[in-house]
Formats: sequence, structure tokens, C-alpha cells
Amino acid sequence: MTVHVIATGGTIASHFDGAAWTEIPGRQLVDELGALPVDVEVHDVASGPSSNLSTNDMVAVAERARALLATGADGVVVVHGTDTLELTAFVAQLLLGTGPARRPVVFTGSMRVHSHAQPDGPANLRDAITVAASPTAVGREVLVCLNGELHAADRVTKRSAASVDAFHSLPFRPVGAVVDGAVHFEADAEARRPATAMTSDVPLVTCWPGMPAAVLEAALRTGDEGRVRGAVVEVFGDLNGARNLWPVVHGAWKAGTLVVLASRAFTPTAANDDLALLGAVGAGGLTAQKARLAVMAALDSTPDRDDAVAFLHQYALHHDAGERSTR
Ligand code: ASP
Repeated sequence: MTVHVIATGGTIASHFDGAAWTEIPGRQLVDELGALPVDVEVHDVASGPSSNLSTNDMVAVAERARALLATGADGVVVVHGTDTLELTAFVAQLLLGTGPARRPVVFTGSMRVHSHAQPDGPANLRDAITVAASPTAVGREVLVCLNGELHAADRVTKRSAASVDAFHSLPFRPVGAVVDGAVHFEADAEARRPATAMTSDVPLVTCWPGMPAAVLEAALRTGDEGRVRGAVVEVFGDLNGARNLWPVVHGAWKAGTLVVLASRAFTPTAANDDLALLGAVGAGGLTAQKARLAVMAALDSTPDRDDAVAFLHQYALHHDAGERSTR
């Protein structure tokens, strides 16, 4: 059995020797784990902080994972900086989809540097390789493995830049765990169709109190005064935005743009009567950053706007307003 490790840099590879910072290559990170129960091939594809990665860089990492699986890899681990790890993991989820035979793809990193007295990187990397080689992880979502927890790429977010317990799927639980080398999952994975490409640029506008409508209007236009094909607008609460913005959203929808509303707060809303009147749809629980990636994938996978919404809403949670008091 062979697991392939794609190394892209990040804190897990950052080493301070008392005088200077260097970056530890992926092969060394794997060798430092000692004996492993599987063969590991390493591909160093990027270095440095993950905040430098563009969306195209993320797509390239995901395509590399897809190519390795297509040529027989038993599992793939991506070593990644934690700042944008959840985004590259979600790009991989969008491009690979979830199907019963898909071999595991597992993202990991660390919150502490390689030269820390008690680094978290080695345990995270060992766990991730274990999951990538595990038959129980076949057919799962693209996974994020840190601190002994397994998260689905669509739900996980980095919530702390100061703790090894940085990644959460709140308000839900992690989908699984690695305990003393044993891999457990709590629930079945849902099937998701893969995207065919992800190249369209999609703007993300975060609304602030009192934001002029002209800001949104400008973001929805392209350079040649046409309209962007898709856009994500981050509003408040249960997809509530200021009333001066709604005519812009409605106008964009009438002009053919797929306008997706996401929220600063968690809300599972994907659709409701008010949104339908505007022509907008809700992100269905995706963060604004992830909604933007999903809209890119949706627009590049189908020419039909309704089908693009269906692609996006593969990742939507079921909305039941009656559950609100218990969430
Ligand atoms: N700055 C780092 C990054 O590359 C943070 C980390 O890896 O934990 O995202």
C-alpha cells in the first residue's frame, strides 16, 4: 500500500535553529516519524505560508491529488499551512466529489513550528497517513485531520490562531477521530458529484453596516461593464442585509448573475420566500469563503444557472426554522 504526501509548506515545516528560519522538506517530515506501516511517496509542491496561495494554486494542489488517485495512489495526504487549509481542502472536495470508491484525501498541518519543544506536527502527520491508508476512510468526504479529530472539508473552519485545538465543525461535531492509531467515523458520508473545472473568478463582498449600494454594484460588474457570472455577498444573521442592497441583488439576478448570500453567523438557510423574490439563494451553511469556491465550481460545471444552484446546494444543510431554538 502506498500513500502519497503532497507537501505545501506551512508552520508544520517551519524550523528556527536559533539564528534563522528554514523550511523542512516533506520527505524529512515523513522520515522523522520513523517506521510506518505503509510506503510513503512525497511530492514537495510549494513552500512558505499558506496565505500566499492563490485560488489557482489551491486548484493545482487539488488537481495533483486527483491525478495521484487516478494513477493508483491508495490515499493522499496534503501537508498545508493552517491559515487557508480548510479552503484548499474544500477545493479538493469540490473537484473530487464524494463517491463510494473514492480513496481517502486527508489534509493536515500544525499550529506549532517544527522546532517547538512539543510540536503537534508529527502526531498530526502520522494520524493523517493512518487515515489515508485506512479502508474505513474510503468513500468519505475530503478530510481535515488535526489534534486527533477528523472534520469534513465543507464544514471545518480554523477558529483560533493560538491553540492546537484550532479546527472545529461547529455547530456540529467532527465526523470522526483518530485514537491511538484507530480511525473512527460517527456518521455516513453523503455522495457529492465532482466539479469539472474551477477557473471562473467570483467576487466576495463582505457587507458592513451602512455600506453604500454602489460598492456592491461595482463588485458585480466586470471590466467591460458586463456582469460577473456569480458573486457571494456576506450579510448578517439569517441572511439579513440592509434594504438599500436588495435592488442591486435583484438587478444582478435579472441580468443572469448567480448571487449567493452567506452569513457572518452560522445559518443553514439555503432558500426561503424572501430570497426567491430577490432571485438570490443562500449558501446553506457554507462560510462566505467556501461559498465563493463552491460558486466557482458550480459555474464551471454547468452552463445552466438552476443546475449551478443544485451543484452548490449539494453542500447545503437542511433548513428547519423550528430547530432554531435547539441550535
Ligand atoms: N502561517 C501558517 C500558514 O502557513 C499558519 C500555520 O501553518 O499554522 O498558514
